Amino acid sequence: MTRLLLVEDDAALREGIADLLHQAGHEVVSSGDGREALARLVDSDFDVAIVDLGLPGMDGIELLRALRRRQIGLPVLVITARDSLHERITGLDAGADDYLVKPFEMAEFEARVRALLRRQRADRGAEIRVGALRFTPGQPQVTVGDMTVELGPTELTLLELLARHPGRIVSKDKIAGRIARGGERPSDTAIEVSVHRLRRKLAPFGISIRALRGFGYLLEASAGV
Ligand code: CA
Repeated sequence: MTRLLLVEDDAALREGIADLLHQAGHEVVSSGDGREALARLVDSDFDVAIVDLGLPGMDGIELLRALRRRQIGLPVLVITARDSLHERITGLDAGADDYLVKPFEMAEFEARVRALLRRQRADRGAEIRVGALRFTPGQPQVTVGDMTVELGPTELTLLELLARHPGRIVSKDKIAGRIARGGERPSDTAIEVSVHRLRRKLAPFGISIRALRGFGYLLEASAGV
């Protein structure tokens, strides 16, 4: 299921949009505050964010800049009542992928969200390489040279998450969000077991997973492998 973050401080509009997205089959997390939204985006994984510009806590432009500074690269659709060319350019420069001026037609809004999700899927489908290891998200084959590494579905998801941010810490919360089954959050022990299994399978190829107590995990490929 796709996970969307909706950041809008107008409660009626927020609820209306959230209902619509929910009916379209998306999981929606709503926030009315820029700072809270940033915390959620840092802690958890979303496919697309929909961001209003005028927000309490931290405005939408600041939020976009904070995301890009942290190299959080999810597609962002800005929805705003500010319709000046200057605002639009500032928004796009700060890292918005698309822009919609309020009031908008819901059909157009849905089409823009679908387009961003398609783009996100295309990005996610590109081959990932870490050291000598290569794989394509969504496909079960993970190879090192001409050898195949056998990974289960949870290990694959975990590898994808860690390999997208090599050398950076991925929090347990973020991992829990990705490997949750049927909306149920896996226990810390279940996460540790999955990480342990993946670590053991990758170790022979010079790829290590470091645990940073209280923070999360990071993937590292040794030089020369
Ligand atoms: Ca607003």
